[in-house]
Amino acid sequence: TREIRLASRPVGRPVPENFRLAESPLPELRDGQILVRNLFISVDPYMRGRMNDVKSYSAPFALDAALDGGAVGEVIASGSEARKVGDVVVHQLGWREYAVLDTDATSVARTDLAPASAFLGALGMTGLTAYAGLLKVAEFKPGDAVFVSGAAGAVGSLVGQIAKAMGASRVIGSAGTPEKVARLLELGFDAAFNYRDAPVRDQLKAATGGKGIDVYFDNVGGDHLEAALAELNVGGRVAMCGAIAQYNSTDATPAPRNLALAIGKQLTLRGFLVGGQRQHRAEFFEKMAAWLADGTVRYDETVVDGLENAPQAFMDLLEGANTGKMLVRL
Ligand code: NDP
Repeated sequence: TREIRLASRPVGRPVPENFRLAESPLPELRDGQILVRNLFISVDPYMRGRMNDVKSYSAPFALDAALDGGAVGEVIASGSEARKVGDVVVHQLGWREYAVLDTDATSVARTDLAPASAFLGALGMTGLTAYAGLLKVAEFKPGDAVFVSGAAGAVGSLVGQIAKAMGASRVIGSAGTPEKVARLLELGFDAAFNYRDAPVRDQLKAATGGKGIDVYFDNVGGDHLEAALAELNVGGRVAMCGAIAQYNSTDATPAPRNLALAIGKQLTLRGFLVGGQRQHRAEFFEKMAAWLADGTVRYDETVVDGLENAPQAFMDLLEGANTGKMLVRL
């Protein structure tokens, strides 16, 4: 199979030389295993952290070995009763064209409900991150005013729409281009701003209409978190989902300089990983499938064609080239 390997570890921003297209023989299909042809592979911000040789919540990628990550593909040979040829499955051997997998390392995608790609986005880990982060981690309740950063991205766009669907008094989003800001308003956000236009702190304050925010869903960290701390109301909650502003940085993180506000405002800041939210999967899936079916929630995808373009898609993701979920179609 053709696969993308990590050729060297990026320092700061990843560059094409950090990646290599290679070919390796597929292992023989054993009993209980399936051969899958990948249809879509996911590129995700967290993968940047795995490219560093540091211990984190997920193990670093090995040098000169295929990268891995979420993928959805079609079963083309099966040595298992549990999966038949033609089934579409979600699994973790992305960044390659074909994969041999133990059946229990895969789950069947309900393609009767949505296209295969959605199982890497709204109906997959991305959706669960948004759903559980907002409702379980930040303990959103109807009437809350919500701010979400990275709002035009895969997770953020879902967070804002879920908040609206669940009765938020106001949903504010930030993103990095005017087109993305316009898209957020189309998706039903009450207010949106381009964080490149002026300090986040000023733009967020203006967007709240003087009423502050009760929940901040943080995808960005840095100046966004600092601005949110300033605007959070007493008893406010922050779901710390990501800090993409610093994934490529080689220096220690600066802001937030106003963290002590958390004391007087009695704020809760909770970091979380989607892997720790699996108990909510069934509830999430049922709700999200219904929201997609009736149009309450819509999702965008930015699709790049060809395995050889996966490294560029990943690099572009970190620079904000995507609206909604960034995917590579094989
Ligand atoms: P996105 O689709 O949101 O893509 C990343 C986006 O980040 C880009 O499109 C870009 O949009 C934005 N961005 C890049 N650099 C900056 C910057 N310096 N400041 C502000 N925005 C920036 O990715 P995901 O939806 O997959 O992930 C969103 C966040 O959630 C990430 O931080 C990710 O690590 C985190 N995450 C956490 C999980 C968990 O378990 N805790 C699970 C999944 C995701 P723009 O044009 O607006 O700048």
